[in-house]
Amino acid sequence: MESHLLSSLDQQYPLIRQLRAATPLYWSNSKNGPTDQGISYVGLTRADIQDASDRLARFAPYFVKAFPETAVTQGIIESPVVEISQMKHQLEAHFKCTISGHLMVKLDSQLPISGSIKARGGIYEVLVHAERIAVKAGLISYGEDYSKLFSPAVRQLLGQYTIAVGSTGNLGLSIGIMSAKLGFSVTVHMSADARQWKKDLLRERGVEVIEYQDDYGVAVENGRRQAASDPSCIFIDDENSKHLFLGYSVAGERLKQQFAEQGLIVDAEHPLVVYLPCGVGGGPGGVAFGLKMAFGDHVHCVFAEPTHSPCMLLGVMTGLHDGISVIDIGLDNVTEADGLAVGRASGFVGKAMEHLLGGFYTVEDTELYQMLALLKESEGFFLEPSALAGMSGPTWFHDASEQVKALHVDPANITHLVWATGGGMVPAVEKTEYLSKAKASLV
Ligand SMILES: *Cc1c(COP(=O)(O)O)cnc(C)c1O
Repeated sequence: MESHLLSSLDQQYPLIRQLRAATPLYWSNSKNGPTDQGISYVGLTRADIQDASDRLARFAPYFVKAFPETAVTQGIIESPVVEISQMKHQLEAHFKCTISGHLMVKLDSQLPISGSIKARGGIYEVLVHAERIAVKAGLISYGEDYSKLFSPAVRQLLGQYTIAVGSTGNLGLSIGIMSAKLGFSVTVHMSADARQWKKDLLRERGVEVIEYQDDYGVAVENGRRQAASDPSCIFIDDENSKHLFLGYSVAGERLKQQFAEQGLIVDAEHPLVVYLPCGVGGGPGGVAFGLKMAFGDHVHCVFAEPTHSPCMLLGVMTGLHDGISVIDIGLDNVTEADGLAVGRASGFVGKAMEHLLGGFYTVEDTELYQMLALLKESEGFFLEPSALAGMSGPTWFHDASEQVKALHVDPANITHLVWATGGGMVPAVEKTEYLSKAKASLV
């Protein structure tokens, strides 16, 4: 980006100076508005979410057979939502503030098959392609029992197609595992941030992994190029895919159902504030879309990004979306939160969701480790660093904060929900390393 453009941006958006200094901050999104107005910018509807939900239901019998660990939920890939009141005390003590109301966590780290939020969108998009190809070939029809798809004939059919994807790690895991199980040939283009164990695990399952010494944007670009030169190759585009987005969005209705079962009320007097770690934006964007459809104005979605990679905040605030990168403002896009190490946000998600997001905040790597340690100690849950970006969200919504005042309710009526986006597949050795680093971050 040219320097005169940058200096005029600096003047127009004084917050950029703070972003550049990598100091943690909260930005209340000035473009946020009523749900019924904001939702019209998305270009997708309730019927689209229903269609995704129905597709996942059709595949449930397949999952029971292909991934027996999903039998306990009848082939539905969903995670628990639980109250973490001990962690709330830890947050209050650590940040010296009072947070009234419930503190809950959505444990996508416990999603079956790939242990992260990517088990929603990533797996879903692979199913879209598998179904389309199998139906066209006459191997299945919509009303049939999809467990039939767990067969050599289907594997052979899908083996004629290649799925390609660019990833910082977890999307590659989800898409690689799912595609390989269905029989697709699959190539994952991994950015330099991706953890070695994720590459190893994929190779063990027969996935081709191509490594880059560059960031996520370059890995995606190469995936896209591979697909463009090969008609039998399907590129899953994390920056633009509506399928991915819809797969994530099904979480909204599911959460509403879970809250209803637990007797937890969300209404005008009892707002829900959800804290979502954001990388390129598809995961948190899709989930937030589903949440707005399910809870309307009673849910406030807040995105969390590393101080070194606040790409969605930057894109939405300036209105430049994918036309600006964190590198342009002098940041390095280097963070321990490998899943969030994205310099340029999805233009599709930014434009779709900018009127539906309450705010954004940034978080330092050290704080991710502190949250890792506190959560493990207080509640026994292990998460990977990226997945902890949402954990300090409630401290921006403490009882005396501007954010809470703007909600005009008794702080005790608020439900804070931290979306814990991953960590379920981290191997024991890595876990121990993360945990010792986490402990050290507290002293
Ligand atoms: C991918 C990922 C995110 C963010 O999702 P995006 O779609 O990249 O915004 C958050 N947490 C974890 C653990 C992830 O793997």
